[in-house]
Amino acid sequence: MLRRTKIVATLGPATDDPKVIGKLIDAGLDVARLNFSHGTHEVHVNRARVARESAEARGRTVGVLVDLQGPKIRVGKFKEGGVVLEEGATFIIDTDFPLDGGTVERVGTTYKTLPQDVVPGSILLLDDGRISLQVEKVEGTRVICRVVVGGHLTDNKGINRQGGGLSAAALTDADREAIKVAAAIKADYLAVSFPSRAEDVEEARRLFHDAGGHGGIVSKIERAEAIENIEEIVRASDVIMIARGDLAVEIGDAAVPPIQKRIIRMARKLNKITITATQMMESMIENSLPTRAEVSDVANAVLDGTDAVMLSAETAVGKHPVAAVAAMDRVCRVAEMEEEATHSEHRMSVTFERVDEAIAMATMYTANHLDVKAIIALTESGGTPLWMSRISSGVPIYALTRQLETGRKMSLFRGVCPVVFDPGTSDHAIINQEAVEELRRRGAVRDGDQVIITKGDLSGIMGGTNTMKIVTVSKLPAA
Ligand code: PGA
Ligand code: MN
Repeated sequence: MLRRTKIVATLGPATDDPKVIGKLIDAGLDVARLNFSHGTHEVHVNRARVARESAEARGRTVGVLVDLQGPKIRVGKFKEGGVVLEEGATFIIDTDFPLDGGTVERVGTTYKTLPQDVVPGSILLLDDGRISLQVEKVEGTRVICRVVVGGHLTDNKGINRQGGGLSAAALTDADREAIKVAAAIKADYLAVSFPSRAEDVEEARRLFHDAGGHGGIVSKIERAEAIENIEEIVRASDVIMIARGDLAVEIGDAAVPPIQKRIIRMARKLNKITITATQMMESMIENSLPTRAEVSDVANAVLDGTDAVMLSAETAVGKHPVAAVAAMDRVCRVAEMEEEATHSEHRMSVTFERVDEAIAMATMYTANHLDVKAIIALTESGGTPLWMSRISSGVPIYALTRQLETGRKMSLFRGVCPVVFDPGTSDHAIINQEAVEELRRRGAVRDGDQVIITKGDLSGIMGGTNTMKIVTVSKLPAA
């Protein structure tokens, strides 16, 4: 049975052996994430190439997601590699201090406007919230803090302000260079870190497009301002990532689960894709099995209706990258059997605006109410499968496309199995027959099964789907 929920896994030093990438794909990886916060451009370009070659060798369609670093604010380095901050001590972050000269009293930062962005009383959280500082006063370039929760602080750890309010622009100069790399490698998705409004997303889209990029834009929801502007950000994006790592630091960990549910619901309603990210199988960085809580977290994200679940350090630097993907695969498959995941009341009361949308909805309604083994969507742009994938169902959607890029893009759509397929004819009867044969070859259908086929009168036209046909698989032409 097809797994509907997609698995995004971050590539890194732990996956650099081409054999490991192959095993990740065999275990169920759908989209390879390149995290531009770490590693050189050259390393990422190479990882994308190996992932695609391995996928191709296996007849699989795997997407590539370039994740920009964004304005992640960090402390500089320490002379000794790290210091222990004691509760109650004074600690100064100084924008004019050498970036590699940190001591137990003072450290530098690359974020030059920090003194303007904080006031006495502001809480700064370091290292994903493990260390907490309260600003006492600001003197020129020096932000003078009291340590509220101490601990071991090491080089280049992140800084967040509780409640948000750091003014850094979403795209840095480094991101602008990275966007060119993303375009050059034909990334299927480009993820923008720390956007706070729709304009940030639109700017990234423009830069990506101008550089020749064609992929979708992912907005990472990871700062407090993004929550305030969530609807405009969702509308401006193709994909929303619930980036729980930074988000939890900014808005408090307890606020994240309800927001995850709300964002997924909103995104589905607006015909957008979602990725639920960060610490999903965190303990597997060290261990070969996830914790009960992690298993539940992944299953609950599936029941929330997420398109994809994501692995970060678990695969990039973990000890068990293949086992982590396999664990996600196993948990998703079982969660997907729940009634919540296969039945839909979704969009029952809306008016459709487009013909392809109406065909997609009619198809899903039929698939959920008739004994149908599979849906075959013949698609150019992936638009009809996207509409279909917003409806919960247990019926697999095989999206057949002649466009490799469309196939890779659909690797992120829940319930959609992308198949790159060229019938080499415009004769409808032959196309139908070839499409059904393709599924038969894959073991997805056999004689006597009913399948629904959707397509346009003219092949090769985007948004042209206007036909839904129910056929019974047989050796005879399915026309
Ligand atoms: P990151 O983003 O892994 O790039 O920090 C994800 C998150 O913050 O959850
Ligand atoms: Mn983040």
